[in-house]
Amino acid sequence: MQHVQVTSAEVAGTGVVLVPVGSTEQHGPHLPLGTDTLVATAVADTLAARLASDVAGGCWVAPPVAYGSSGEHQSFPGTLSVGTDVLRTVLVELVRSARTWCDRVVLVNGHGGNLEAVRGAVEQMTYEGHRVDWVPCAVAGADAHAGRTETSLMLHLHPDAVRPALAEPGCTTPVRDLLPALRAGGVAAVSPNGVLGDPTGASAAEGERLLAAMVDGALARLAVVA
Ligand SMILES: [Zn+2]
Repeated sequence: MQHVQVTSAEVAGTGVVLVPVGSTEQHGPHLPLGTDTLVATAVADTLAARLASDVAGGCWVAPPVAYGSSGEHQSFPGTLSVGTDVLRTVLVELVRSARTWCDRVVLVNGHGGNLEAVRGAVEQMTYEGHRVDWVPCAVAGADAHAGRTETSLMLHLHPDAVRPALAEPGCTTPVRDLLPALRAGGVAAVSPNGVLGDPTGASAAEGERLLAAMVDGALARLAVVA
């Protein structure tokens, strides 16, 4: 049993608590605001299942942090951002709280804009002596935002939440070449439809492969830091 449906007694003695860290932000015309939160939760769920047999006390996936640092999407309705400082503080307090009853916390980050907050929280908590790590929901060759990668993942995980008829290409310039314009004017300045990438060709089968690759990457990263 996962997320909010467990009782206190059922999570007592848990070894590893995984916290999905997502966002609530525009994902183009065809994907829901909660895409990053849903993907991070799925990666955390699969990761927990893969880790469980090797962890004394097992794993529990906590309810996700659904608000992140999404200022670059703020000009699109629906975007709800709390910013880097608030997110970092939330993560610090969550880790301190969880660590009163679990051995280790793993933050599973589903949104690039959260990176500074996630890294900062892990650094501070490690300094305070807590056993905490973070993993990205990353895969080689992914496009940036609401493109083929995220559309495929959502077609696999939550097909009812995808509006395929509304999917259209966005700005396909590599993000590293867009950074000055993104910093100055946010996503809207480079992509009127909010998409950075091209959802054309996305499929549930590809999403299934991408999810597996993300989980493999997270496991490898945890093995290195374990
Ligand atoms: Zn996203």
